[in-house]
Amino acid sequence: MNLPFKKLTALVTAGPTQEKIDPVRFISNYSSGKQGYAIAEALAKHLVNVQLVSGPTCLTRPQNVDFTEIESASQMLNVCEKLLPVDIAIFVAAVSDFRPKFIYSNKIKKTSADEITITLCKNPDILKTISMHKTKRPKLVIGFAAESENLIENAKIKLATKECDWIIANSVEPNNSALKSDYNEIYIITRENIEHLPFMDKKSIAEHLAYKIITYFK
Ligand code: C5P
Repeated sequence: MNLPFKKLTALVTAGPTQEKIDPVRFISNYSSGKQGYAIAEALAKHLVNVQLVSGPTCLTRPQNVDFTEIESASQMLNVCEKLLPVDIAIFVAAVSDFRPKFIYSNKIKKTSADEITITLCKNPDILKTISMHKTKRPKLVIGFAAESENLIENAKIKLATKECDWIIANSVEPNNSALKSDYNEIYIITRENIEHLPFMDKKSIAEHLAYKIITYFK
């Protein structure tokens, strides 16, 4: 007897977050969303049910993927928690580590002062929260580590402290800026080994990763 085919489900975060300062200003970063969108698309091609949760980007939404756009890290966490349970969670988003403690309700006026101070407070760590979820932890949790020095060492620390299963390490040295580029070079770090994917376009990286994920579940 053939058992009914159960589709895998995946949650992918992508893009930057925007943390409001006032109605017209925010703190953000250079993340393009390209790698996350490519991973979502590649997984969907393997018939995975994909939920893509994205910060604001200029990209076209991938086909055959459920899409939610958010602005801030808090909104991203909220949406991710609501989308559980899933089999796979891949946190590609460049989440702002900090947000302004207070959001001004009106545009901050230019004054005669030469300086103003905006107090920042820590954002929730979405990857860590989902990875340590008591009841709905995905079977495979994958994080990204963008490092400007000691790439592998720092990524291994992240693997341990964030309690994820795999960490994808990529370098963000000035001449190898993974955030905006169409290309990437990564190391897939698990507790057992390290696999190096040489410099290639982000779609090829995504296809390789999707294949590795599917194989993991076979
Ligand atoms: O600590 P760091 O920002 O270097 O960790 C990177 C990994 O953690 C990425 O997978 C990123 O998507 C995730 N992350 C997150 N929430 C944060 C910060 C990072 O999900 N607040």
